Amino acid sequence: MSKIALVTGGMGGIGTAICKKLADAGFKVATTYSRPGKEIQWLADGKESGYLFHAYECDVTDFDACVLLRQRIEAELGPVDVLVNNAGVTRDATFKKLDKVHWDAVIDTNLNSVFNVSKQFVDGMAERGWGRVINISSINGQKGQFGQTNYSAAKAGMHGFSMALAQEVARKGVTVNTISPGYIATEMVMAVPEDVRAKIVSGIPVGRLGKPEEIAGLVAYLASDLAGFLTGSNLAVNGGQHMC
Ligand code: NDP
Repeated sequence: MSKIALVTGGMGGIGTAICKKLADAGFKVATTYSRPGKEIQWLADGKESGYLFHAYECDVTDFDACVLLRQRIEAELGPVDVLVNNAGVTRDATFKKLDKVHWDAVIDTNLNSVFNVSKQFVDGMAERGWGRVINISSINGQKGQFGQTNYSAAKAGMHGFSMALAQEVARKGVTVNTISPGYIATEMVMAVPEDVRAKIVSGIPVGRLGKPEEIAGLVAYLASDLAGFLTGSNLAVNGGQHMC
């Protein structure tokens, strides 16, 4: 029987690639979206590309909504074996201009969500003796970024979470890892003015933006049995930018 993977924010650029790669690897894939009305778009994309995913509306900043999410997925698909905490937002401003609303939005969506969603599924993974938690962080959680105290703090926090939880569940067959992508060619990055993007690319040793599939491929590896000895790690996928 197929294992079940849940990818939060699976309708975004990286999330969609992760859903497809996990489906290719034989998982039954569930995903979440937070803005009502997006489901139709998602199903259309899924149909065109020949993929079928199970989309659930869930605001991952809302703990009670995550409880309901677990109940729905378990009733309709079964227990979740692989959780990919991928949902995220940016609300950039220099610290001087950053207000509490934008601080809270980024911490809630990128970090508190990891607690809200993982809390629903990790105990079950441990009880069944196999599981994977994969947190999608960012190079900016490793290096910091001008105008992103909120995002850098949240993304760095994800890795602290991964290392601590990894130790707690290591003997139960559950691994917990972080992936820290560099700049990936998604809508978010392609919306940046061309001259700014060119400057970003000039700072990446391989000389190009990453592709969503290059993150998704690593997720699929981490989700596999082969990756059972890999836990508590923060894997940098950034074209060598972490060295600059
Ligand atoms: P997108 O903006 O394309 O996707 C983000 C996803 O998060 C969307 O599907 C969105 O769904 C979902 N989301 C946002 N808020 C919530 C919420 N409250 N509840 C549930 N879902 C929510 O971004 P990317 O695909 O580019 O990014 C995916 C992840 O990778 C993020 O965590 C991002 O921080 C990280 N990352 C991205 C990089 C890049 O270069 N693109 C680089 C490094 C890290 P909806 O619209 O329905 O709310």
